[in-house]
Amino acid sequence: MTQLVSIIIPCFNEVEGLPSLEQHLAPVLAQLQMTHLETELIIVDDGSRDGTWQAIVAWAARDHRVRGIRLSRNFGHQAALTCGYDLARGDAVVCLDADLQDPPELIPDMVARWRDGFDIVLAVRRRRKGESAFKLWTAALFYRLLRVLGAGYVRADSGDFRLLSRQSLTALNAMREQHRFIRGMVGWIGFNTTEIFYDRDARHIGRTHYPLRKMLRLALDAMVSFSSAPLRLAYVLSGVLMLMTLGYLMYVLMVHFVWGISLVPGWTSLLLAIIGFGAMNLFCLGLMGEYVGRIYEQVKHRPVYFVAASAEQPPAAAAPTAPSGNEPSGAPTSGEPR
Ligand code: UDP
Ligand code: MG
Repeated sequence: MTQLVSIIIPCFNEVEGLPSLEQHLAPVLAQLQMTHLETELIIVDDGSRDGTWQAIVAWAARDHRVRGIRLSRNFGHQAALTCGYDLARGDAVVCLDADLQDPPELIPDMVARWRDGFDIVLAVRRRRKGESAFKLWTAALFYRLLRVLGAGYVRADSGDFRLLSRQSLTALNAMREQHRFIRGMVGWIGFNTTEIFYDRDARHIGRTHYPLRKMLRLALDAMVSFSSAPLRLAYVLSGVLMLMTLGYLMYVLMVHFVWGISLVPGWTSLLLAIIGFGAMNLFCLGLMGEYVGRIYEQVKHRPVYFVAASAEQPPAAAAPTAPSGNEPSGAPTSGEPR
């Protein structure tokens, strides 16, 4: 029985990179075919503003394995991936960056592991080429911080290049949270997990769409969604400060009543206390705001993305090879997850 492997490729302004992606994928897909695996490419255009969508439509017209999806605007990498995960029909699902930083040549190895019985195959970076010392350093710091905060579900140095079995994908798709840090969610669902190692290449074409701002957003999502330790930190901090204030109060009372010294000059300490407590309050409020904001977002129950258009050949044209939806997979057919 032939099985289907879905390959999800999120794209945001990747028009220059698509031709070489297609070139690199061709031999990989042929190799999978030789081992009796059909493939589908789910290419999600995350609201690109260059000609990415036109390129995807053209690719879909050429190749019946391609299913192009255009989101209604730029929802971000994690939302684009979620869309791909929702629509994938495969027995195994791999996600791949469009910029060839994740070598497609690794996919057959991942698939082999899946056939050995693993549900999740993580591709773990051994080395990162072409990334700034700053990015390397912040990435390392980020993973360490996550561990310290007790959100150790995230495998350090594993990006979003991974294979999921149908079983683990169904589990992942059941989690409809708004702020998605898929790496952490994949760790959280459990299942039989294995790793393969690779060297991450520099981006072939174009430049990163993960500027510092988006990276910080992702890091904050990861920390706040996977741990309530920051909330506890605020508690501990305010406890310590409360004790200190109490101690200071005792001292002042002692000085005044026991030792009989009158304490008039005290502007500095007073000012320090006011500023200190003000800062503390603001800090705690900010932290609360993070969580309250998330509760608000979650309660609104908005879909993670909207699909504006799709491009794929009708099933009849693809009939000779593509097993279009021949098994009832758990994936919803509408692009709006509930
Ligand atoms: N991407 C996306 N939406 C975004 C940003 C990026 O779909 O808002 C895609 C992008 O086209 C690429 C992948 O996500 O295929 C990873 O992005 P990028 O290479 O810019 O990130 P980096 O590798 O620098 O972390
Ligand atoms: Mg990249």
